[in-house]
Amino acid sequence: GSLRELDARVSVCRACPRLVEWREDVAVTKRRAFADEPYWGRPIPGWGEAEPRVLVVGLAPAAHGGNRTGRIFTGDRSGDWLFASLHRTGLAAQATSVHAGDGQRLIGGRMVAAVRCAPPANKPTTDERDACAPWLEEEFRLVLPSVRVIVALGSYGWDATLRTMAALGAPVPRPRPKFGHAAEVTIPKPAGDTVRLLGCFHPSQQNTFTGRLTEPMLDAVMARAKEVSDD
Ligand code: SF4
Repeated sequence: GSLRELDARVSVCRACPRLVEWREDVAVTKRRAFADEPYWGRPIPGWGEAEPRVLVVGLAPAAHGGNRTGRIFTGDRSGDWLFASLHRTGLAAQATSVHAGDGQRLIGGRMVAAVRCAPPANKPTTDERDACAPWLEEEFRLVLPSVRVIVALGSYGWDATLRTMAALGAPVPRPRPKFGHAAEVTIPKPAGDTVRLLGCFHPSQQNTFTGRLTEPMLDAVMARAKEVSDD
């Protein structure tokens, strides 16, 4: 399989009835500010370079963000924070990610969501997470050879990364390393070699509004990711 085949297959996935209904409902009702725009309303494929050195693992697309624009972290507040930081640290070509045709580009990076359809209240169920896991495993299998750093956003991205690595046969340490902001652990890849896993608080409004995550904190993790990936 190739990334292109994976994208084609995932973009028509309807395995989770609750999420299919939600993503399509949101795409029809829309938010007033986007009333004149078409909504994607489907699963969001991974996005970025095909042979990335840095892989960013998020939770799931936002209802009026990725679910609208069709590109991960594009057109929502979390993405505003994330791309601004990636741009400041040299990992993204532009400071904003507005829509799929805006010319934005990741530099040496790729992004993927652990769950590829927008969930109500940003909370997928355990069944939905497990239903989507094979897509994440396939993406990891395809890109992992070039990846040096994985930036896991939130404990959800962290756990999904460890679960995916283990499913692919990597000897993930036990007990499982604990998530934290700027947590850093080396994980062996399934086929030898290693990857550095960095934890980062999710740039959700919950974290950015409250000051739990600040721009310098986010930049520190992204700069570290760049440093490790450049080694
Ligand atoms: Fe398919 Fe994943 Fe969307 Fe469920 S969340 S419908 S498994 S793409």
